[in-house]
Amino acid sequence: MGARTGQEYIDRLAETRPTVEINGERVLGAIPEHPALAAVVRSYAELYDLQHSPELRDVLTYESPTSGDRVGTSFMVPHTAEDLARRGAGFKAWADHSLGTLGRTGDYLNSALMALSEAGPWFAQADARFADNAAAYYEKVREEDLLTTHTLIPPQANRAVGPGQQVDGRALGAHVVGEDDNGIVIRGARMLATIGPIADELLVFPSTVLKGTPDDAPYSFAFAINCDAPGLRFICRENLDYGRDHPLGGRFDEIDAVVVFDDVHVAWERVFMLGNPELCNGFYNDTSAVVHMAHQVTTRTTAKAEAFLGLLSLMTEAIGIEQFTHIQEDLAEVVTIVGTLHGLIRAAEADAAPNEFGVCTPAWEPLNTARNWFPKASQRLPEIVRKFGASGLMAIPTEADLAGSAREDVERYLQSAALSGPERVRLFRLAWDLSTSGFAGRQNLYEYYFFGDPVRMAGALLKATDREPYKDRVRGFLERVTESEPVPA
Ligand SMILES: Cc1cc2nc3c(=O)[nH]c(=O)nc-3n(C[C@H](O)[C@H](O)[C@H](O)COP(=O)(O)OP(=O)(O)OC[C@H]3O[C@@H](n4cnc5c(N)ncnc54)[C@H](O)[C@@H]3O)c2cc1C
Repeated sequence: MGARTGQEYIDRLAETRPTVEINGERVLGAIPEHPALAAVVRSYAELYDLQHSPELRDVLTYESPTSGDRVGTSFMVPHTAEDLARRGAGFKAWADHSLGTLGRTGDYLNSALMALSEAGPWFAQADARFADNAAAYYEKVREEDLLTTHTLIPPQANRAVGPGQQVDGRALGAHVVGEDDNGIVIRGARMLATIGPIADELLVFPSTVLKGTPDDAPYSFAFAINCDAPGLRFICRENLDYGRDHPLGGRFDEIDAVVVFDDVHVAWERVFMLGNPELCNGFYNDTSAVVHMAHQVTTRTTAKAEAFLGLLSLMTEAIGIEQFTHIQEDLAEVVTIVGTLHGLIRAAEADAAPNEFGVCTPAWEPLNTARNWFPKASQRLPEIVRKFGASGLMAIPTEADLAGSAREDVERYLQSAALSGPERVRLFRLAWDLSTSGFAGRQNLYEYYFFGDPVRMAGALLKATDREPYKDRVRGFLERVTESEPVPA
């Protein structure tokens, strides 16, 4: 089958019946037709259609090594720097489509599955079947162009105790409650799965940050299930799609949902790791999955930072504020954020090398820097939009007003130094939806926690960084100056 069209994605989704609770009701009909989900489904469909557009076909797809069909570039196993650059160009083309605001496009986890599928010997440490399962699953997702999402974090009941003692000394997190000849049975919950209701498949993987201890064996696993598996339920947050007057929220609200496993049966062929906290702790690092995920994420966040720079530049032009030095200072800060991201991606791709499984893998230091730094830097971007826009972010009548009885007032009183009234309203509405609206608030939280809790990530970064050479240099300097310039008595 290979790379899907938008219609093929929608048709498959319409045939599935995941259990989804939203706004106090269970979704009974087809997912693509639900008012809270229809717009984001259409946006995802647009991404699939781009795979077939004459301009982007060669960027977004390549020839499958097994079927010969065109399949998504994010599935490509990179062997050379050119392959990595092709993967990066594919990430960028999809990210630009939503100004970087769609965070769970398929290329994110396709990248993880690609790396996992190549890490057979690592999986075989636990069980040779897990290596085969990971490789076969990757191939299925690639050839059927399935959309996957993941859920990693246990419910936030009591972070002061372990997963087995969450409430009244009992477990809440998803855990193994049974095993039979056909597979395993899972009960409990995971905190969140973005796009769960509109994805084809759910990857229930270890956390990228939380580390398991031997006591965590029942919570330690990696498996995949289809999103309409019996016993699986998604409980959605409030929908942030308030219609087309919200240029981003009205298109790109990737619904987030709590995931409940009510004795969900998972077939053995979809289990990739089981009851092995130590290996689960190394799931992403030891397989290089985290590096390829971070390559996609940093490319997407670059698209987003570039969009902020474009938007802010249009705003300063629109209302004539670029000559003020504090405005220039803030704009320059955004230029440096964009430049830093460009440099980090370029360094990661330029210093790529084969990993132990022969997969050409971007250099980790630049991408690890990006994933630790951008969650914090990203918070400045909407803050600067709010500072520049001020009351202009509220003087945004709707599209209906632009065509209705207020039209003349809008044209006269909302025009700006560089734009007509309607043009300025549309620009500032975009600014509001990227900085101030409910959609924007969710985006900020999303960027901040994207790879996990930044506080614990900082601790992990310190632990993983060899600082001895720098300490030695400073010690050497102190010795040198002390010897050559004895302290006066
Ligand atoms: C919009 C959004 C979408 C998301 N989508 C997904 C998804 O699709 N799939 C998925 O798996 N996850 C998703 N997440 C979850 C994300 O991975 C987590 O938010 C992140 O890992 C942080 O974990 P937490 O939210 O449980 O925070 P907590 O761990 O509960 O932390 C809450 C606060 O307490 C502090 N804290 C807690 N424990 C400790 C500790 N031991 N030491 C120090 N400080 C501590 C933290 O620093 C933080 O300030 C999403 C999150 C958001 C906000």
